[in-house]
Formats: sequence, C-alpha cells, structure tokens
Amino acid sequence: MSNPETLSLYDTLTRSYKEFPPQDSPARTNPDEPISYYTCGPTVYDSAHIGNFRAYIFEDQVVRALEYLGWKVKQVMNITDVDDKTIKGANPTGADNEPRILRERLDAYTAPYIEAFFADIDKLNIRRAAVYPRATRTIGAMVLLVGRLIEKGFAYRGEDGSWYFPIRQFPGYGWLSGLDLEQVSVGARVDSDEYDKLDARDFVLWKTRRPGEPSWDPTEYDAASPLPPGRPGWHLECSAMSGRHLGETLDMHSGGHDNIFPHHENEIAQSEAANGTTFVRHWLHCGYLLVENQKMSKSLGNFFTLQNLLDRGHEALAVRLLLLSTHYRKPLNFTFDGLRGAEANLKRLREFLRRLEREEASAPVAPDEELGLGGTGAGPLLSKLKDDFAAALRDDLNISKALAAVFELVGTLNRLLDGGGVRREEIAAARKTLLGFDEVLGLRLGENAGKATIEPAWVEERLAARQQARRERDFARADALRDELAAAGVVVEDTPEGPRWHVE
Ligand SMILES: [Zn+2]
Repeated sequence: MSNPETLSLYDTLTRSYKEFPPQDSPARTNPDEPISYYTCGPTVYDSAHIGNFRAYIFEDQVVRALEYLGWKVKQVMNITDVDDKTIKGANPTGADNEPRILRERLDAYTAPYIEAFFADIDKLNIRRAAVYPRATRTIGAMVLLVGRLIEKGFAYRGEDGSWYFPIRQFPGYGWLSGLDLEQVSVGARVDSDEYDKLDARDFVLWKTRRPGEPSWDPTEYDAASPLPPGRPGWHLECSAMSGRHLGETLDMHSGGHDNIFPHHENEIAQSEAANGTTFVRHWLHCGYLLVENQKMSKSLGNFFTLQNLLDRGHEALAVRLLLLSTHYRKPLNFTFDGLRGAEANLKRLREFLRRLEREEASAPVAPDEELGLGGTGAGPLLSKLKDDFAAALRDDLNISKALAAVFELVGTLNRLLDGGGVRREEIAAARKTLLGFDEVLGLRLGENAGKATIEPAWVEERLAARQQARRERDFARADALRDELAAAGVVVEDTPEGPRWHVE
C-alpha cells in the first residue's frame, strides 16, 4: 500500500489550516504508530441529545476518514461519571454522608445512562473508540497529576482545603479561546465545573469533601499526597485520562465548540504545566446545533434525544446522515424537513446498491474487444470519483464535496444502467466504490441493501422466467436468474409444488 496522504485540517489553536498528521507526530515516521486522538465523551447524568451526537458523529467521521486515507488511529473517549451534574442527580437532597455509600449511589445513578450511551452510538453506527476510561476509575492518575502541579508551583490550596490552578502563572492561558486575561478578576476563584469566559478565574483541581458528595481518599493512591479526601474537578479528569491512555502529547483532541472554554483551555494549562511539554498538536472543534433555527432547550420543547426521534418513527441512520451532512465547523440547523430529506437520500443510496447487486448478477461478462477496453466508460469515472472523494476528505473534511462524489456515482451509473451494456466487472467496481465510500459515511449500506426492501413482484417475475428457461432446457439462463436472486438475498427452494422463496 502506498503511503497515506496528509490532510489539511483547521486547527483551533493557531486559527489556521494545518497539515495533518503534523510533522512531529510519530505516525508520520512509523507506519505502525496510530494517530493518538482524544475526544471528550458524555457526562452521564442524562441521555445524550442530538447536539452531543453531532459531536460524536463528527469525531467518528474524523476516525473513519483518517482510516480511509490509510492512517491508523487510536481514539480514546472518556466517560464523565463524576462532576457537579452527576453528583446532583445521584443525591439531590444531599442527605447521605458515608463516602462509600455515596460512591455506590453515584455508580447506580450513572449506570443506565452509560448503557443508553452505548446503545445509542451503536444505533448511529458510531464506531467504538479503543478505550472509554471512566473518571471514577481513574482517580489515581488525577491525584498524581495534581501532585505534579503542586510540585511545580502550579497549584495552591484554598481556605476550605480545595486546590486551585493559578491561571496567571501559565503563560499560554487563554490562547485557545482568545481570552483576554486583562478582563479576569485577580484572585477570584471558581469551584463549579462550568462557567463562561466572563467568569474566567482560577479553577478548581481537587474539591475537598463536602456533605452529601461522594469522595475518594488521595492517600490510597499516593501516601504522600497533601490532598484532602474529596473529588476531582471536571477539567482535571480529561487531562489525567488522556495522559494515562495516550501519553503526554496527543496528535489530536476534539470536542464541541462549547468545550473550548473553559474545558479545553483548562486541560491545556494543567497538562502543559505538569508535563512541561506540548499537550495537543492539533485541536479540532465542531460547530453548535440549532433545532428549527432555535437554540435547543427543554423549555422550548425542541430538545431531542435519539430515542425521541426514533419514537416519532425516524430512523437512526437517517439521523446520522443528517448530522454529518453539514460541514463540521458550521452551525447545523436540525429540521424535520432536513431529516425527511436525509431519509430520502438514504433510500436512494440503498435502492441504488440493490440495483447494482441485481444487475451485477445478470450483466454480461463480455470480452474486452467486444465492448472496448473501457466498456461504458464506468472505470475511469469510478477512479475520478474515488479521487474526488479522497480529495474532499483531505480538504478539511469537506463533506459537501464528498457527498457530491457519492451522488454523482448514483446518478451516472443509474443512467448507464438504464442505457444497458454495462459490464459485470464495471457494476462490481461501482458497488465496491460505493461500499468504500460508506466506510466513511457509516450508513451500513451493505447490511441493508437487498433486505426488507425486496419487492415480491420483482422476485416472482424472475422465478417465472427461470421456470420458463428450465422448460426450454436453457440451464445457463436458469442459473443466472437464480444467482441474480441470490445476490439480492432471495433464497429459492424448489419443491414439488414449484419454487418457494424467502429473503435471507
Ligand atoms: Zn474533556
């Protein structure tokens, strides 16, 4: 196989298009070295909504596109199972106070949301990451990370025993989000996991134990730890989990646009202050999601989980197609018209593949001299479309151009097939090209084509023709018809009462 080609991807930190993988990525020089890719995962206090899935599908596209172009990828996605929201959900009254019971209660609370997350991503055909570390199972790495920050003078203790990161001490603070440190109130601190840029201040690394909150004893992981029993801040979790599974420097890190501040800004500060080296070589962020041109919110009644859409009769793979059809950096306006459009496009792709499968079984295998070397000319067209598709991916994952290549394949091949004379090898090549594109789109075309959409009249017609061919002792024709049916997933059984059929 030839060397994989590099991409041009927009980098949030430098606000410019950069070659990816970067020159200093080990993946550039060692073909066995995967691209290290960290993606912020779900906070399991609720079911994920379509805005979350936009980000996870975008990240899945990144992995699929890199693999399509020949790179290996190791993706790590964390599960935030301890933070302000999960704690509040698990123990809303704050009545209990025994750390072990509170930890168990937190686990019991997050378990169904973790299960639902995996069920949803499977329905959306989002490929599984290599590792899904859970924050509550990575506490040791967090304790050690704060220990290093303390050693290097990048952490201080507040009056109540919690530890904070002094943002003014880290020279790069604010670079990712474009925060002006002049606007930050000196000496102010923030304990909550989420806040906006106007509230930028020293953020909490380790929160001292509070009544009603689950807690861990740091000395169980590091006997010399000066940290009190307590729990990690959300931002610390990702710095620790990425370091644990991907090392100190990552090739790529991504998330939704709303992760840039404070979450990713704080991750950079913690990781680089502790390790003294670059945390992330390339930052990627996807745009936000609107529903019918409005911000999605429970109070507006336009807040949708995947299950909400399935309950309305929509198909998960159509949701996937809709969410990936807008370029990842642009805002995505989710509309039900758009979803119906995605359903129509999905149907068109499935029908096209089914047609290729049917016609492949019955098309002539003609010697080259008879039809000319290029046959109908489908061969060069397929090469061009494959080039266009790969070029679109390399151009900052230009999904519009990639989808244009896919639908040009559908339109042109349909026309050629209508005209007749397409050779079997050409149809097979078109089918393989489409399935290759689907490695990136992830629409499971290969699994759905030919099934459930079989028209009985089409089958009956071929069975009648096969019976006729047999009566005429034209067994080659009869076999070709049986093969055509088999290619579409139709199994024929010959019985004394005549042929019976079913779909595999
Ligand atoms: Zn994160």
